Amino acid sequence: MALDVFLNTFAGNPLDRASDRRAKPEWIAEQLASPDSLGIAIWNGQPFVEPAPTPENPHGLQIAYLPAKLVGELAGGPERLLFMGLWKDTAVFAVDLEDVANPADGPLQGFGKFEDLRSVALRLPSTEAAIVATAKQMFEWRRRHPHCAVCGQRTEAQEGGWKRKCPSCEAEHFPRTDPVVIMLAYHADRCLLGRQERWPPGMFSALAGFLEPGESIEEACARELSEEAGLRARKVRYHSTQPWPYPSSLMIGLIAEVEDDPGQPDLAELSEIRWFTRAEARDLIAGKLEGVAAPGKLAIAHQLIKAWAEEG
Ligand SMILES: [Zn+2]
Repeated sequence: MALDVFLNTFAGNPLDRASDRRAKPEWIAEQLASPDSLGIAIWNGQPFVEPAPTPENPHGLQIAYLPAKLVGELAGGPERLLFMGLWKDTAVFAVDLEDVANPADGPLQGFGKFEDLRSVALRLPSTEAAIVATAKQMFEWRRRHPHCAVCGQRTEAQEGGWKRKCPSCEAEHFPRTDPVVIMLAYHADRCLLGRQERWPPGMFSALAGFLEPGESIEEACARELSEEAGLRARKVRYHSTQPWPYPSSLMIGLIAEVEDDPGQPDLAELSEIRWFTRAEARDLIAGKLEGVAAPGKLAIAHQLIKAWAEEG
C-alpha cells in the first residue's frame, strides 16, 4: 500500500478491484478461464489456508490458492462466485462454499484447511487477511440479501458479484457497509473503558455503537458516550478505520475528550465503566495489568488505547 496511513487488521487489501472491467461479463469469463488466474475458497465464512512458517512467524499461514477454473466449477455459476480483483495482471476469484460438508475432506482434500478467520487473522500476512475479510463480507451480504428490497423478487449477481439486480423491477442493489463509531473517551490523564456483562471476567474495551441515519460521526460518538456512560463529549478526533466482516461493519475509530465527570454505566449495554491512568493503559495494552484485560491487536479498540497511551 502506498497510502501513508495507519492500517488496522482487515484493511490493506492490495487487489485492484478493476471496477471498470468487472461490469463486462465477457471479461470476467475470460479471466475465469485463464490458466493464470487464481481462486480462494471460503466455507461458511472460513478461509481456506495452508501453513507458511517463517523464523519470525513459526505458526504462519497463507491463503491456499487454487486454480480459478476449479473455483469456478465449485461455484457452479455467478451466484456463489466473486471476482475479487487483479494482483498485477493475475485475476483472483473467490467461491462461497456454504451449507456443504467440509470441502477440505472432499474435493479440496490435501490442499489446505478451513480456519476461523478471527482466530487466524494475525497468522496470515496482513494483505491476505484483508483479501479474505473482503470475500467474507461480500458473501455475508449475498447470503443475507438474496431478494429485492423494493419488490421482493429474487435478485441476480452481476459485475463479478459486486452488484445484484432485480429481474422484475430492475432495481440495483449494492453491498452494504454499516458504520460503527468506536471511541476511546478520556479526560486529562485518564481514559474510560467499559465492560459488558457477557464478556470474560476482567475484560474492558472502548465504547461503541452504530451510526444512525441523520447523524454525523461526531454526533454519534457524543450520543453513545452520553447514553452508555452519561458523559459529555467535548472534542472528537479521528484515528483510523477498520473493515470488520462480522458481518459488514466499518469501525470508525475515534479519540474523544469528555468533560470532567465520573460518568455511570447505563446497565443495559454496559455493566461497568472504569477509568485508567495513562500508565495503567500502557500496562493494559502490554497485558500486564493485574486482573484486567483489553482486546488484542486484531481489534481497533486495542489500537485506540495504544495510541492514546503512547501520546503521554
Ligand atoms: Zn425488484
